[in-house]
Parts: sequence; C-alpha cells; structure tokens
Amino acid sequence: MQKTAEPSFRQSVDLMFNRAVALMDLPAGLEEKIRVCNATYTVRFGVRLRGRVQTFTGYRSVHSEHMEPVKGGIRYAPEVNQDEVEALAALMTYKCALVEAPFGGSKGGLCIDPREWEEHELEQITRRFAYELIKRDLIHPAQNVPAPDMGTGEREMAWISDQYNRMNTADINSRACVTGKPINAGGIQGRVEATGRGVQYALREFFRHPEDMAAAGLTGSLDGKRIIVQGLGNVGYHAALFLSEEDGARITGIVERDGALHNPDGLNVRAVRDWIVRHGGVSDYPDATHSVDGAALLETECDILIPAALEGVITMENAPRIKAPLIIEAANGPVTAGADEILRARGTVIIPDMYANAGGVTVSYFEWVKNLSHIRFGRMQRRQEEARHELIVHELERLSADRGLGWELSPGFKEKYLRGADELELVRSGLDDTMRSAYQSMREVWHGRDDVEDLRTAAYLVSIGKVAASYRAKGL
Ligand code: NAD
Repeated sequence: MQKTAEPSFRQSVDLMFNRAVALMDLPAGLEEKIRVCNATYTVRFGVRLRGRVQTFTGYRSVHSEHMEPVKGGIRYAPEVNQDEVEALAALMTYKCALVEAPFGGSKGGLCIDPREWEEHELEQITRRFAYELIKRDLIHPAQNVPAPDMGTGEREMAWISDQYNRMNTADINSRACVTGKPINAGGIQGRVEATGRGVQYALREFFRHPEDMAAAGLTGSLDGKRIIVQGLGNVGYHAALFLSEEDGARITGIVERDGALHNPDGLNVRAVRDWIVRHGGVSDYPDATHSVDGAALLETECDILIPAALEGVITMENAPRIKAPLIIEAANGPVTAGADEILRARGTVIIPDMYANAGGVTVSYFEWVKNLSHIRFGRMQRRQEEARHELIVHELERLSADRGLGWELSPGFKEKYLRGADELELVRSGLDDTMRSAYQSMREVWHGRDDVEDLRTAAYLVSIGKVAASYRAKGL
C-alpha cells in the first residue's frame, strides 16, 4: 500500500492484524492461517416480485472455524460486497475470542436496500436467501449461526428461524440456528439493545480507570460529557439513549444519512428517534441546528465520538480535523487503518470495534445457550432466591422486634432485595461482566507492554493469542 492511499475496510483489518502479529511470536505459518478467510459463498437467486423475476446477490463468509459454530450477522445494504463481508467475518473471529464467546467468525450480506421493498416482499427475499444458506449448512445451530446487523433485525431473524424449522422439522435445536429473534420466537430479553448497552458498559469501564482517562486527557465521569453519535439505528440509538438517560452524558450531535443535528445543551434522543421514524430523517427537527453536510459534525468539538453507522467514515482525509479525544467504535471498521495511524500519533484514544460493539454477540451467545437448554434463564432459581432472601429479612425484623432495637429497613430496600433476578437482569449482569473482563484483558496488555501503544493493538494481541491457542490445541 502506498503511504497516501486510503486502505479499504478489508485492507484496514489486515493492516491492523499485521501490526499486532508483528509483536507476537507465533509459529511459522500460523499467522497466515489465522489471517485468511476460510471460505466465502456467493449466491445469486431469483424471486418473482412485481410481475418479474428479480435477481439478488448474497454472501456468507466463514473466516475461522477454530471453534464451531461460527457466528456473525447478516447485513442488508445496497453496497454489500465480498471484501466487506470478509472483513466483517474476520472482525467476528477476533471479537468472539476477545469476549470469550465460544464461536468462530462469520458474516453474511445481501445487496439490497430494504427501504425499497414492502414487508411481504422482504419476507419472500429473506426466506429464499435463508433457504440457499440453510441447504449448504451455512445456517445451522451447530455450524453457522447468524444474527442481525445493519438493515436487519428481529423480524428477519424470525423469518430465518422459521425457514430453518420448515426445512428441519425434526431438529429439536432448530431455534438455535439464528440469534436476535423476537422473544415469542425463542429470543432473549435484552438482545435488541445489547450492542448499545455494551457500548455503555464499555465506556463505564473506561471511566473507572483514571490512568486511561488521562491518556485521553479526560477527567471525572460520564456525567456531563459531550457526545456526538453517527447513526441513530439500533446500536447508535440505544447507546445514546442509555448514556444520556442513565449516565448523565449530553448528546450534543447526531449525524444521520440526511445531515446532522447539533445542540450544545444536549438532544433528546427519544424525540430525535421518533422524528426519524415519522419523517424519514433528521431534517427540520426542532430544538437543534441542522446541517446538510453531516460528516462535518464528526469534526466538531466534543468529549466522546461514537461512530455507530458504517465503516470507513474516519479517513486519512478527515482524521487530522477530528477533535474528540476519545472515539468508541460502535460500528465495525469506522476508522480506516490510515486514519488510525494519524489519530494515534495525535494521542486520540480509540476503544476498538472488536471490543466496543461485542455486546451484541455476547447476548447472542446467551440466546443460543438458552435455545439449546430449552429453558429461560432464572426460571429454576428465581423464586428460591426470593425465598432465601425473605428468610433473612424476616429474621432481621424478628430480632429487631424481640430485642426492642427499633431497626427499620430503608424505604424500598425490602422490595429490591427480595426480588430474585429475572432473565433481563441476568443478561445485563452477564453482559456487564463480559465487557469488564474483556476491557481488563486489553488494558493489561496496553499498560503492561512497552511496545503496545493503543487499545486496538492490545485487543488484537489478546484475541489472536486465544485463536492461536485453539489452533494449537487442535494440533495445527
Ligand atoms: P441499523 O441499520 O440499525 O442503523 C444504521 C444507522 O446508520 C441508520 O439509522 C442509518 O440511517 C444510519 N446511516 C447509514 N448511513 C449513514 C451515513 N452515511 N451517515 C450517517 N448515518 C448513516 O444498523 P445497526 O445494527 O445499528 O449497525 C450499525 C453498525 O454497528 C454497523 O457497523 C454494524 O456492523 C455494527 N454492529 C451492529 C450490531 C447489532 O447488533 N445490530 C452488532 C455489532 C456491530
């Protein structure tokens, strides 16, 4: 690559991988084995719609099968291509290893603009795409388990799950063939918002470490921090909502397809989302300045920048003008390898995608386990937990009354303490624990090695180490 050429998404992932692997001592050849994508299946299929046969192109890429099933979302976007899907599949391998979700990496994509099709048409297209993948075991509970990504959600996952079930009527684990399903189709509480929730937990963990904040020149807590978010879709919306409503952060900017909104006092995330749903974009939203050149807002002063839309939005061209001292990559690949170099040299701290947006695959992992165990989390323990807590509370009350101590429990304590954890609470607890542990593993490398300057390289070192260990255990 020439110094001035902007690396593509896939080149960026490879360059970042190479940078990390140069600091490792892997057996000869293993590095190449881990880096390359195992296989990509391209399918072109026809669906009769609107009086003619429409042809669609889709991909399912399997990057690494060091663990099976392989896991990765299915994206619906007009510009989907093989290189993009392979880059995303590679990131899935590293992401799963980093957060210890026992999967290899995969990804899928369909070249389609979902906004151009009616719901019943999308169902036909999705079912046909799923059929093509299912018959080749590219969707399978034990081999390849998709999830939502850009342009897809619960609805598409339910169609895929049902399609698999129709083709495998006797498979008792059929619901585990895909995650991100609605609750009534075998989904799990907390999956829809999981990636945004993970971004929130990642930032909370970052702000627990004064040394890490200092690296970005930040102090204090999330309270009052100015945040600019790009993309108010599934990931961006939930991240912005939780950070503003629960952590006191101010969402000063929102960048969408049709421009950007800016309000230094903070935007109401719910209201903006409602506006987008009703009007199809952010234009004319009251209570904010609207600019048509959305990307320019990425360069506006703020404390935290959250690119949560698509890849390659921070490039060698605009990186020198980015003012945020902290970037958290909620989207996959938003910072190109060239931009990463520029930002690193300027001291910008980047919380990398493979960690920052791993909340989605983490809760997908919980959903898959739920589907295989055929029981909701907490169903066996919840009431038993409540009964034991009740024993303690009653004993305290008895002691206080018998001895005339006059102890009084704080208001609300009893209800909170007595309540056993339901599925949503367990999912959040598991996600929080995962995000904290993965951050710890990255920061130990970041601060513990003189040759590691940034969190991204640290993340690659941790995850490549784990993938390499799996391959070695298999005798490779
Ligand atoms: P989504 O389709 O729900 O939302 C994407 C949003 O970005 C939409 O609001 C869209 O209007 C906006 N957008 C598109 N192009 C834009 C542009 N040029 N400028 C500004 N905004 C633009 O998708 P999502 O599921 O939220 O995924 C977003 C990113 O997060 C992707 O990179 C995806 O791979 C990644 N991701 C998603 C999940 C998940 O669970 N959904 C998990 C991990 C990573």
